[in-house]
Amino acid sequence: MDKYYIKDNNNLIAISNKYIDYAKNIDVNRDHILDDNEIVDFLVKNDDFKIYATDKGIEFVNKDNIIQDFKLFLRDKIKGPDFIRDYNQIINKMKELEQKYPDKVKLEYLGKTFEGRDIVAMRISKNINDEEGKKKSILITGLHHAREWATGESALNIAEKLLESNDNELNNYLNDLDIYILPVVNPDGYEYSLKEYAWWRKNKKTFENGMGVDLNRNYFTPKDPTLYRQPNDKPDNTWDDYGASDSVYSDTYRGPYGNSEEEIKAITKLVNSKHIDTVIDIHSYGNMILYPWGYTNNPTEIDQIYEEVAKEMNSFVNNSFRVMQAIKLYPTTGSSLDYHHKEGRFSYTFEIGNSFFPKSKEELDSQKQKVLTMVKIFMKNLSAGKIPTQKYIVSK
Ligand SMILES: [Zn+2]
Repeated sequence: MDKYYIKDNNNLIAISNKYIDYAKNIDVNRDHILDDNEIVDFLVKNDDFKIYATDKGIEFVNKDNIIQDFKLFLRDKIKGPDFIRDYNQIINKMKELEQKYPDKVKLEYLGKTFEGRDIVAMRISKNINDEEGKKKSILITGLHHAREWATGESALNIAEKLLESNDNELNNYLNDLDIYILPVVNPDGYEYSLKEYAWWRKNKKTFENGMGVDLNRNYFTPKDPTLYRQPNDKPDNTWDDYGASDSVYSDTYRGPYGNSEEEIKAITKLVNSKHIDTVIDIHSYGNMILYPWGYTNNPTEIDQIYEEVAKEMNSFVNNSFRVMQAIKLYPTTGSSLDYHHKEGRFSYTFEIGNSFFPKSKEELDSQKQKVLTMVKIFMKNLSAGKIPTQKYIVSK
């Protein structure tokens, strides 16, 4: 009989393969129970699991394996629903918008993923023939993390509303702004999450010992290499890891070196070649507006503006978000948020919704609407000069 064990404060806690029976009773649409600690908690607290006082000869399988097994068991139960568009549907929509509005839209093919998919952004402008880098600009990104299904839809929705709705307020921002939208930063991971393994977070880059880099831990800038890796965090072990992991098995693997991943090279190429001023990176979940830094407790030079604009955005969505400096959530290194700020771009991370996997079209629509509302307030402030553009932020 298969048995698994975890060790907890020197007690060995036996977990039988009966946990599969319990897993069947979980509402798999409520993903919050599947936080790693909660999985262990759930398994350990169940009455049928006995604590063994043991002397010898017990097979030992570590906690990470149990969590992995549990997720593998559940993965077939969650598949992308019809109201979430897959990678091809999103790219086809972008192509359709380019064909319908050739004077306003241009697709930018930024590179190819490990599995050969195109990384595609779109520029939306009042007149697409206007020179780039003249107007103030914003980049909106989604799906760094494969399982954050509502984030690609929310980014694409901005493009759809800009081009296809009668929202005059939104349309007027095109007079002052160039908008860049990259709905699917991580095409390989997204397809894998939607269709095979819902819980997947990283890209699909394959290494000798494992698979996947956490794309939101892979950003690097020579302006401050410690933003990617702290000086006392050595690459050859994991016990000193800070803000990201050096283990390829980890969900937060930072990659072999900074800016190693095609997806991140694509973004850095885009923002630099187009002189993009500001970035909003959409993640899920938790209903938070995060501002830099994630890698240090130090304030930025412009915390006050970050807080003011965030609070104003939040006030238009019934204050349903929490506004905070990213490190107050947990330390992160190599993130989009920190990279862009360090490079002089005003930068937020949105954490939207209450779960990775929206359970209904209504739930998805509500998240899309909130993102749109907040982005409009952002555009208003960028247009009005309240948000500093790239050349005005002097990074230390
Ligand atoms: Zn994320």
